[in-house]
Amino acid sequence: MKITVFSNQEPHSKEVVHVLETLLQAYEPLYFTFDSEHPDIVITIGGDGTLLAAFHHYSEQLDHIRFIGVHTGHLGFYADWQDFELSELVESLITDHGTCVKYPLLTSTVTDQAGHSQTLLALNEVLVKQPSGTLIADVAINGTLFEHFRGDGVAVATPTGSTAYNKAVGGAIMHPSLEAMQMTEVASINNRIFRTIGSPIILTKQDELTLTLKSDETPHIISYDHLSLAAMQVVKMTFKISEQRIQFAKYRHRHFWKRIQASFIGVEED
Ligand code: NAD
Repeated sequence: MKITVFSNQEPHSKEVVHVLETLLQAYEPLYFTFDSEHPDIVITIGGDGTLLAAFHHYSEQLDHIRFIGVHTGHLGFYADWQDFELSELVESLITDHGTCVKYPLLTSTVTDQAGHSQTLLALNEVLVKQPSGTLIADVAINGTLFEHFRGDGVAVATPTGSTAYNKAVGGAIMHPSLEAMQMTEVASINNRIFRTIGSPIILTKQDELTLTLKSDETPHIISYDHLSLAAMQVVKMTFKISEQRIQFAKYRHRHFWKRIQASFIGVEED
């Protein structure tokens, strides 16, 4: 099995990397080899941000990579192993049978005024905002006009991303076994003249969401996960659940709602 350890730059994370690599080296090359170019397993050390960075780093190889997140700070959503559980993690790797859990990803195509298109892949969400003034967009579902949006922005999240930015803007938490995407409005204008649905909407894997943006020469900001595109005048965005999925090595059962409770309500996990 080819393994790589992907870390953030925090001094404590570097210490954890050293401990983990030393533990793994004891089983090299019989059980593991280290390969950062074409790994089978990517172990991230840091937080959710580190896992997001590793996901984008290896986004061309998602079909054969399984991720494992070790957190060195607060409990993470993707980074759910703790830094004192490294021996248990290495034991799980030695007895690995390839078990994994797969979660949906979001794909979005962004087209600018000159007709250039870029396709993005997101683990958490894709967000469009207008830095000044009002974002004006027609929202269509499967090609049929749904509403005229006016406000600060529109976010579209994956199920696992629903606990991130999506939650902060009033979106619902979705169980990650659902193959769905959620659109949330960011500060929509709702009065007698302008009207949007006002609540988050959840769309299926078969659905396609389209935003047709009106441009007044002010560039839009497009962010996806921790990344963003250079400011550009966007005319159209489409959103779909991707055919690709992210895979996590699964060595123990993690109760999703207990993790939500531990993270947002404050009860310790078992
Ligand atoms: P960051 O360092 O600004 O951290 C943002 C926080 O979001 C961290 O606490 C991280 O653990 C948490 N987070 C990331 N993914 C999560 C998930 N799926 N569920 C629950 N919490 C999650 O940025 P980062 O660590 O590089 O993460 C980028 C993400 O941060 C973006 O994808 C976005 O969802 C989120 N974000 C949230 C807000 C907000 O809540 N207002 C603002 C900006 C970014």
